[in-house]
Amino acid sequence: MDERTQAALARFERFLHRKDLRLTDARAAIVEAALARQGHYPIEELIADLKKRGIRGSKATVYRTLPLLAEAGILEPAILAGETRSYETTFGRNHHDHLLCSRCARVIEFEFEAFEILQRDVATKYGFRLEAHHHELIGVCPECAAREGAKAGRNGSGPHPTSLAAGAASDEGEPGGSA
Ligand SMILES: [Zn+2]
Ligand SMILES: [Zn+2]
Repeated sequence: MDERTQAALARFERFLHRKDLRLTDARAAIVEAALARQGHYPIEELIADLKKRGIRGSKATVYRTLPLLAEAGILEPAILAGETRSYETTFGRNHHDHLLCSRCARVIEFEFEAFEILQRDVATKYGFRLEAHHHELIGVCPECAAREGAKAGRNGSGPHPTSLAAGAASDEGEPGGSA
């Protein structure tokens, strides 16, 4: 077992201890499987990893353990939008947020200090002690935007960017019409 996994297990054990919980074999196996994963993954893939390791009945345990793992800083929900929510192992990594392409589902990680400062200000203003946050910016990546631009040009609907916006608005009735 590598040092990072050992450190994660030690941290999780201390965290559980404070809650009068134990680091059971099943909980330890989930941490090990999470630390072996890279990138963003649906929780079903983590459950499949545990099955491969011969851990049975892990599905319910994984779902019960997720909030503890998140609170302990081992893993976090990464992408909430779309059909399948994904998670990522955050232990030992810098905090970051995500840009998600709504067309090709590409995920870009970014760190933007101003976000971090502003959200602390917001929490303070409302008397909150900040524990976690989730910034997910959803849009169209440059490649998909270029592809859509090229397609619009070929279809003869005109490469002018405003033609897309005008088309979308006309589906909902008169652009700018009042209710
Ligand atoms: Zn894309
Ligand atoms: Zn990420």
